[in-house]
Amino acid sequence: DAKRHARGGVVQYARTMSVRSRHHAELLDRLHHAFHEHELFLVYQPQVDLVTRAVIGAEALLRWRRPDGQLIPPDTFIPVAEQSGLIDALGAWVMQQACADLRSLHQQGIGLPRVAVNVSAVQFRSPCLLERIQQALQRHELSAHHLELEITESVAMLSDAQVEPLLRQMRGMGIGIALDDFGTGYSSLAYLERLPLDRIKIDRGFVQQLGQNTHGARIAEVIIELGQRLQLPVLAEGIEDEASWRQLREMGCQAGQGYWFSPPMPLSALVTWWQHWHESGIARAD
Ligand code: C2E
Ligand code: MG
Ligand code: MG
Ligand code: MG
Repeated sequence: DAKRHARGGVVQYARTMSVRSRHHAELLDRLHHAFHEHELFLVYQPQVDLVTRAVIGAEALLRWRRPDGQLIPPDTFIPVAEQSGLIDALGAWVMQQACADLRSLHQQGIGLPRVAVNVSAVQFRSPCLLERIQQALQRHELSAHHLELEITESVAMLSDAQVEPLLRQMRGMGIGIALDDFGTGYSSLAYLERLPLDRIKIDRGFVQQLGQNTHGARIAEVIIELGQRLQLPVLAEGIEDEASWRQLREMGCQAGQGYWFSPPMPLSALVTWWQHWHESGIARAD
């Protein structure tokens, strides 16, 4: 009957929840272990000026390789780290490692102008974020302009009145601020007015519709136009073919990254890629 049915539904629901939270707890446990056992590492994806083809930077992206070789994507474990607070330690490590790697590139004669590091909203609630960033820069003898922070609209959404002054302070020091995944999540055009930004990144979901007769393609066009009106450089994510590159360039989009240039890769491969990019003549504009 209906009553039993409803109760069964509740039991079913409760069971699903407990399975999910147990899965969550297990994943967190494995992640803690992975962090301490050095199963986490960074890969880098070049960011390229679409007109001059100069490499303007590289985005650091976190990877987790299990001892059995299985690669776990960040979209599955970063949310778990964010919910548990582990993201603070993890984020601090990412910052240190990214700075160490940029320094190492410079010492090898590779003049990568800067590294872009993703920083989640949760990290902005920690009072020592700025101090940690300064420590990482100092320790590896980098200046603030060598670093760009990629924040998402969830950072912009933090009602905390400290975020805006903190971003201003960072930007005043010379640290770059990019608004990632623009147009997804809880976007508000007011953020573009309120926040001190150096760049907006168009989400690849829009970029990949270019050339199609879709709303997504129109949205990509409008974001580029918006950037031009606001004199805010735009970087397109997820450029996978030459046609998209050319189209974006003609539309006035300054920069891009994507599989067409290179997938994210370990530091040693970035060195090889850099040399090839500059020796093959591809870096010269046509
Ligand atoms: P994101 O910052 O928007 O990074 C861009 C994602 O697009 C990366 O996925 C990258 O591998 C992927 N991508 C780049 N080019 C292409 C392309 O041409 N085609 C396609 N299909 N994909 C492309 P990934 O590495 O899996 O990272 C996913 C998300 O995880 C990132 O999105 C970022 O939000 C988060 N993440 C990664 N590393 C960190 C980190 O160190 N800290 C924090 N807080 N978040 C991170
Ligand atoms: Mg990013
Ligand atoms: Mg993005
Ligand atoms: Mg993202």
